[in-house]
Amino acid sequence: LSERLPVHNPKDDLGHAARVFNELLQRLEDSFRQLKRFTSDASHELRTPLASLRSIGEVSLQTQHSPEEYREVIASMLEEVRRLTQLVDSLLAISRADSGQIQLKTISFPLLDLVHEVEALVGILAEDKHQTIRIAGNEDIVVHADRGILRQAVLNVVDNAIKYSPEGSEITIALEAESQGSPERAVISVTDQGPGIPETEQTHIFDRFYRIDSGRSRDHGGAGLGLAIAKWAVEVNDGTIAVFSEGAGSCFSIRLPIDRQIASVAEQAQLAA
Ligand code: ADP
Repeated sequence: LSERLPVHNPKDDLGHAARVFNELLQRLEDSFRQLKRFTSDASHELRTPLASLRSIGEVSLQTQHSPEEYREVIASMLEEVRRLTQLVDSLLAISRADSGQIQLKTISFPLLDLVHEVEALVGILAEDKHQTIRIAGNEDIVVHADRGILRQAVLNVVDNAIKYSPEGSEITIALEAESQGSPERAVISVTDQGPGIPETEQTHIFDRFYRIDSGRSRDHGGAGLGLAIAKWAVEVNDGTIAVFSEGAGSCFSIRLPIDRQIASVAEQAQLAA
């Protein structure tokens, strides 16, 4: 690839055809480049837990151990297997997103239900760190979205808030309806008391495989895919995701169009009651 057709006269048919051809070639090259980069980043990420599994196994076979020591070896191997599984799940989610062939299964539902579902999934992780998850909002905010895909986005953001915040800290998940602007938007904001995200990093954290401090992040088992998946999951549901962080603490906000039809039915029901 890389050779381009000469465009002698951009105004005639031949010139136009050559331009279109060159643009297509450029896009094809860009996709190849992205695919190559993705494959090499993914292989690199897969290698790390595999190398650790191998070395744990090899070292433990070199000498005799007590049953208790073997138990510890198996536990650390299982921890690596858990990381690998998470990574493979993330890679599958990304390739599903790239395929562009996702059939959204959209339904209308109160956002608060989804937030409670996410809390139930990550509650144990927060408990392990003695963190408190506070939820503020009510049942009135109804959105129309693919619930499973949206749950992944909220889950990844809340999971990060837990991972990157200190023991005993507080995480707030607030739901609000933003009335200015059209269409009206539902906002889920996840605020933590973690280290915060420097301004220069804020534009990069949604990129694939991007970690601010790869050493620290890797300790938490992250490959830098969580926010890339969250961004895709929100955008495919017509929403946006943004981060606000100044100094300590971060606030991630997800904005989604409100399902006004359902909301007004709920309001009518409330009025009638
Ligand atoms: P990872 O899987 O490494 O957590 P993400 O894509 O979810 O990857 O996040 C990208 C990076 O952004 C993380 O490596 C981390 O450095 C930073 N980050 C994400 N969420 C937070 C947060 N709530 N507080 C501080 N840093 C965060």
